[in-house]
Amino acid sequence: MHVAVIGAGYVGLVTGACFAEMGNDVIIMDIAEDKIEGLRNGRVPIYEPGLDQMIKRNVAERRLTFTTKIEEAVQKSLIIFIAVGTPPDCDGCADLSQVYYAAQNIGQAMNNYKIIVTKSTVPVGTTRRVRDIIGAVTQHPFDVASNPEFLKEGNAIEDCMKPDRIVIGVDDVRVGEILKELYSPFMRTGKPMFVMNLESSELTKYAANGFLATKISFMNELSRLAELVGADIELIRAGIGSDPRIGSQFLFAGLGYGGSCFPKDVAALTQTGRQLGVTLSILEAVQEINKSQRIHFCQKILAHYGSDSLQGKKFALWGLSFKPRTDDIRDAPSLDVGHFLLERGASLRVFDPVAMENAAIIFKDLVQYAENNYDCVEGQDALIIITEWNEFRYPDFERLKNCLNEPVIFDGRNLYDPKKMRELGFTYYSVGRSHAIP
Ligand code: NAD
Repeated sequence: MHVAVIGAGYVGLVTGACFAEMGNDVIIMDIAEDKIEGLRNGRVPIYEPGLDQMIKRNVAERRLTFTTKIEEAVQKSLIIFIAVGTPPDCDGCADLSQVYYAAQNIGQAMNNYKIIVTKSTVPVGTTRRVRDIIGAVTQHPFDVASNPEFLKEGNAIEDCMKPDRIVIGVDDVRVGEILKELYSPFMRTGKPMFVMNLESSELTKYAANGFLATKISFMNELSRLAELVGADIELIRAGIGSDPRIGSQFLFAGLGYGGSCFPKDVAALTQTGRQLGVTLSILEAVQEINKSQRIHFCQKILAHYGSDSLQGKKFALWGLSFKPRTDDIRDAPSLDVGHFLLERGASLRVFDPVAMENAAIIFKDLVQYAENNYDCVEGQDALIIITEWNEFRYPDFERLKNCLNEPVIFDGRNLYDPKKMRELGFTYYSVGRSHAIP
């Protein structure tokens, strides 16, 4: 099939490359000229495992092309996915200006029948609004559909090639059939494809992210109780996660969720509720807990030094991306924790396997950038672990101890065994494990 993807971000690039991988002719369009220029020259602007190779392969086979011209993308394609950003506005609502602008441009560029699909995460009612915007500027026939994306950064190719499910929202079953055909090569593992109305499809995406964020905040809140009563949140996680009604995923206590999706989607969903007079009180609480979890962690650092000031203290920060296997630092805990420490006079030396460039855009020259994780801790007063990259899981602890001025670790991701750390001579703080606190 001939497919266009509008927006060459995490979602647009991955889904576009995967559609091409399945033999479709795909054209990815973005207004960012440098991005498209780079892609044409083989430079992939984001870090996502496996994406580079997949793009190269499909470009070489001429199934995948890039453009900044909306006419080129629209006129060559039957199905056009809108995969532009939907960042939060200052009230927490989804800012839909990129989606509406893209819709208008698509409408103006149309030359015959098209199916325009919202893949961006958009509040209920947006796809109908997209239809109105396009209808106002074109005489050509078209249909709209909603097809929210569930991929996870860091595992995006696998998620896209073998999705758990595909959700399609349509007004007309015939459009659903065309989209089912496009997706059928991805569903050979027998996973379900759900065709529903537009509103249900749009809301399904928010429900999924809202529920997953709720699991995380539930465990984080419980971890604070565990710390006070002598319980271990890791044991509790194992104890409840084996119940299939609960499931073992998204039960890790830590520094809370971040990234480009959960924070903004939970905020947008609560705003939609408010606008319609429905208070989504669970999700209001989920957001509060998420914010305070980062502060709670920082308070442990202050408590260790027995002061509100960290003047003259030097900290090593391991991990800047909001989660492992991505360079995305949007709403990452590293930003809140980092600024909290800087504001109290501390100095920071940071390391992340792939997110250094993005972090430098935010932290500029406020922090020092290390070459690797050992270089990061050299001459620092304590190590703070923010992101659970695999390479941080089994460090050479003796070397670590020799590098640090004092053997102190604040672990926001529970990477190590508190007992072992004590035996190794570390003062080790983690999350929800009271016996870890000396
Ligand atoms: P992103 O910010 O990485 O990319 C968006 C791209 O759209 C940018 O390259 C931007 O230049 C481009 N763009 C903006 N306006 C445009 C226009 N009018 N025409 C063409 N290009 C335009 O965003 P993302 O992370 O890929 O997210 C896109 C959408 O998918 C969001 O709604 C997000 O919530 C949703 N989503 C994201 C993820 C994820 O893990 N990142 C997962 C599922 C869903």
